[in-house]
Amino acid sequence: MARYTGPVCRLCRAEQKKLMLKGGRCRSDKCPINKRRPAPGKDPKARPGKRSDYGIQLREKQKLKRIYGMQEKQFGLFFERALRMTGITGENLFVLLERRLDNVVYRMRFAVSRSQARQIVLHGHVTVNGKRVNVPSFLVKPEDVVAIEESSKNLVVIKDALKEYGKSGVMPWLQLDPDGMKGTFLNAPRRSDITDLADIKEQMIVEYYSK
Ligand code: SF4
Repeated sequence: MARYTGPVCRLCRAEQKKLMLKGGRCRSDKCPINKRRPAPGKDPKARPGKRSDYGIQLREKQKLKRIYGMQEKQFGLFFERALRMTGITGENLFVLLERRLDNVVYRMRFAVSRSQARQIVLHGHVTVNGKRVNVPSFLVKPEDVVAIEESSKNLVVIKDALKEYGKSGVMPWLQLDPDGMKGTFLNAPRRSDITDLADIKEQMIVEYYSK
């Protein structure tokens, strides 16, 4: 599947929000969002124009899609699946996104960004319940054990990423054994648990797809 290969910081500047696409650099002073540079193509002296409802809905959808590193078509398929589930569609969408294997690998601190997690999965370094899985969109279920494959445990990129665990831990719906390089997806999170994305207005995304 074709993926965006351009400069990722540009995506954050377009949304005027830190989408955390580059790992350590995102938390450093080097992040261009900290320097308050204008969105690409925007005159820095121009006043911000008023956005239409459609424009606001589109931007929320783009933000969430980019945070989870997904392409348009696949994101749309996730939304359709969320729509078919019982409960609130916007919350269902978050649950599905959080269950993606590349996201779980990132959340378990085996990678510094979701794009790095995607590469780690694609290259066969990850197992689920003891079996190698190399599909980033694989949906992890409650009680599934996600681990780094035995022969990949010495990879510097994974060891370095795990250092973040000591600083920030993992989200409450996960449990991690950093020495064993494995973790358990305890249960699907509630929307209110996903505190780092609290500012995303999922209802806008639902309205975007309702048109
Ligand atoms: Fe770049 Fe990360 Fe800052 Fe986004 S948050 S602009 S990806 S450094």
